[in-house]
Amino acid sequence: MIPGHPTQLLQKLSREHRLAPLEWEALIGGYTPELAAQAAELARDFREPFYGKKIFIRGLIEFTNYCRNDCLYCGIRRSNRNAPRYRLNREEILSCCETGWELGFRTFVLQGGEDPWFTDERICELVRAIKKRWPECAVTLSIGEREEESYRKFREAGADRYLLRHETADECHYRRLHPPELSLSHRLDCLRTLKRLGFQTGAGFMVGSPGQTVGTLAKDLVFLQEFQPDMVGIGPFLPHHDTPFAGEPAGSGELTLYLLSLIRILLPQVLLPATTALGTLLPNGREQGMLAGANVVMPNLSPEDVRDKYTLYDNKLHSGSEAAEGLRRLQESMAAIGYQVVCDRGDRAKRQP
Ligand code: SAH
Repeated sequence: MIPGHPTQLLQKLSREHRLAPLEWEALIGGYTPELAAQAAELARDFREPFYGKKIFIRGLIEFTNYCRNDCLYCGIRRSNRNAPRYRLNREEILSCCETGWELGFRTFVLQGGEDPWFTDERICELVRAIKKRWPECAVTLSIGEREEESYRKFREAGADRYLLRHETADECHYRRLHPPELSLSHRLDCLRTLKRLGFQTGAGFMVGSPGQTVGTLAKDLVFLQEFQPDMVGIGPFLPHHDTPFAGEPAGSGELTLYLLSLIRILLPQVLLPATTALGTLLPNGREQGMLAGANVVMPNLSPEDVRDKYTLYDNKLHSGSEAAEGLRRLQESMAAIGYQVVCDRGDRAKRQP
């Protein structure tokens, strides 16, 4: 099969919201700034009927950087002895939520390393406490791979959403990025379980991770097309100096923006953040992300004194200013490009009948 010209493939994607693997390769590999501009315009058009000019905010609470895993790209991997470790206690976490609530956040994202101290019981207790005090808020968990039974308990405790990037949909690439005890098949099993249990589920990957090719990216897009996640998190790979990938080049911001647009066209209703990694790599990364089709930002609500310890990669963006100040600036920068930061849960738009 001959995949066709990238412009035609973009039109096909806009009509059919799916492509064959080789077509994805041709579309991704055919990147030019002009093609990306076309894709961004289409992405904005597809977002409009579902979300208008609304940007949703999520309060990100990075509550532990202890991790039992050893992912080669990640600065908080267990074998990084130079990472000062921390974990927030219940009161600290609730106080982050309190600050967030006052500022207008209606979604809290609890993200962390895979920290065994946070047993199922402790996570459930936290989720219940947050939902009891702020019933109209959504709680999102992003704490890695657990057993089905654990996920079920989290759901019963009231957790609404779960973010678990698949990282790469290619077996061989997955093994290059992870230690032998981790597997793509288990990660994908977790994602399917989360969806079945009724979580609004988020997948995603880094752009430009070592070993990534147009072929592996095509597999990522095919996976998203099959899995139909509610949320997709993508951001550039950024090296961390205390990892085996210290000397690897950062991913491309332009390619990340292009892929954001393609994902919006593929999944028009998807919740798509302009990630911190994108904001770290590109000046005005968040604004550029919105113009490429994103509709979510996840400002950091973690306490000031731990923010520089959740270092997945070098130079991670965190404004020194307090959360309130950061939010005001975000609202202004979004308003300047015609978007409006709103204070609601920001659930995924329903599918059209
Ligand atoms: N332990 C949780 C949360 C991981 S951190 C889990 O396993 O899901 C959230 C995301 O940060 C990861 O899924 C990964 O895609 C991204 N990340 C980690 N290290 C990174 C790096 N060096 N550059 C860019 N993104 C990175």
